[in-house]
Amino acid sequence: MTVITRFAPSPTGRLHLGHAYSALFAEQQARDAGGAFLVRVEDIDTARCRAEFDAGIMEDLAWLGLSWAQPVRRQSEHMGDYATALAVLEEMELLYPCFCTRSDIRREIDAAGHAPHDIPHIIPAGPDGPLYPGTCQRLSVSERQDRKDAGDSFALRLHMAAAVPIAGPLHWIDREQGPQLAAPQLFGDVVLARKDTPTSYHLAVTVDDHIQGVTLITRGEDLFAATHVHRLLQALLGLDTPDYHHHPLLTDDTGKRFAKRDHARTLMDLRATGTSPADIRHQLGYR
Ligand code: GLU
Repeated sequence: MTVITRFAPSPTGRLHLGHAYSALFAEQQARDAGGAFLVRVEDIDTARCRAEFDAGIMEDLAWLGLSWAQPVRRQSEHMGDYATALAVLEEMELLYPCFCTRSDIRREIDAAGHAPHDIPHIIPAGPDGPLYPGTCQRLSVSERQDRKDAGDSFALRLHMAAAVPIAGPLHWIDREQGPQLAAPQLFGDVVLARKDTPTSYHLAVTVDDHIQGVTLITRGEDLFAATHVHRLLQALLGLDTPDYHHHPLLTDDTGKRFAKRDHARTLMDLRATGTSPADIRHQLGYR
């Protein structure tokens, strides 16, 4: 089977060394296997993504010496694919509209935390923080309709407790950590379509990786837990299951992760101060 890997940056800033490591890692895995390396632009967040960063990222990758298969897929151009996937889940009655704002959710969680002591309350936390307390799952059909009619904006959440039994036990292979049993329930009722954009990270990457025929997903271990949700979505939507390789995150001399806020370490800045692509490849362990 041809190995297809991808590097999937969000154009919310220029690339830093952590991104360079991730891109070189994905490209090397494809090259070692005689496969193909793709770049995908994850630009569903229209408020934060900018065309100039998209162009800058392509420039950074080319400067590093990478080449990738064309055309580049940009998520913002494929909303129809995510709508099709949502329609399948809607048909399975696995989605519900959620009108809550962040502060509604916080208030609900705080209220549960301050409940009288004789009522036991557990506020479960998932990999992304406290789980959604299910407020809008309890709305009646007519309450939902009234709020839609009133023009209230809503997200679409996955009804996790209904979805997990339909999918049954699920596994995936991580090339760094071995076979994994998927535990999507850890995330609770995840958002699959946001209020501000009609998809979400989880839905868009899962659909895209299938459509693009990605066979090996390489990405930082900060996204390890998200794979539990992606594996569930693959099962519900009848999509292919690739292998995964979550690599350790690159840290600086002080052990801190590289992040977009560390402006001094963008490839653009390193380049401006005389660092060569060969220096960077060497520093990151690539030739
Ligand atoms: N777009 C994500 C990021 O920039 C990566 C998504 C993925 O590799 O699945 O962190």
